[in-house]
Amino acid sequence: MSSRLSQLPLVAANWKMNPTNVEDALDLVRGVLSVARGHADRVESVIFPPFPWLLSVSEVVAESGVKLGAQDCFWEASGAYTGEVSPAMLTGWCQWVIVGHSERRVHLGETDEMVAKKAAAALANDLSVIMCVGELSEHYDAGTSDQVVSAQVRAGLANLSADDSARLVIAYEPVWAIGSGKSADPEHAYMTMRLIRRVVGELIGAGAARKVRVLYGGSVTAANVESYVELPLCDGCLVGGASLKAEEFAQIVRVTNEVYGHR
Ligand code: PEP
Repeated sequence: MSSRLSQLPLVAANWKMNPTNVEDALDLVRGVLSVARGHADRVESVIFPPFPWLLSVSEVVAESGVKLGAQDCFWEASGAYTGEVSPAMLTGWCQWVIVGHSERRVHLGETDEMVAKKAAAALANDLSVIMCVGELSEHYDAGTSDQVVSAQVRAGLANLSADDSARLVIAYEPVWAIGSGKSADPEHAYMTMRLIRRVVGELIGAGAARKVRVLYGGSVTAANVESYVELPLCDGCLVGGASLKAEEFAQIVRVTNEVYGHR
């Protein structure tokens, strides 16, 4: 554990809309568990399968120390919201939820305001939250990444307080780096993660800025993970494509364990 962190580093596996059948999902989670469970007291690993596989995966991860999360949730508790899943429906058997992933912002029109409502509802229902933020390539090219990311963080934290910070994680995921194989320059990632922590401090206090965990995500692989998790303000990573290969994901967990073990 790093001296700043009072919590473990976090490695999150966002499976997105994969695998397409439950047998493959169970094979994948068993492969991940064979390694990740051995590191569970030093690295918090969380798996985010698609909704239909959550229940079956939960039975495999039970008691392993590896945690389970949903890729999204709605903000209302119940009612006429066809297709939505409320945070309370996840509480008790899922520990985590992702809100504001850029694929939802870009393809489904999710706004900062919706992300803020989802985060607050999930936290109020005892879930831990990964809130994703990140600039598009045009913002990066125009040099406006900082403005975009800080506006997303400000809006996302609108309904939160310092009490939420221990269960809040902010994942910096430049949209141009997601699934592109073009991971961000670690210096850019570092500067942006520093900015995120500063904005958290301004909005909900210095204590929260220390407590909140900040991740990097965007084409993380076993080959490049070290260059992110060794950054002083980085508390782990959110992994998409590489989390679908059990051995590669296991290697990402191993490297994270080694890096944090030396801090
Ligand atoms: C993600 O889905 O959040 C992600 C970072 O994907 P990838 O690792 O494939 O870029």
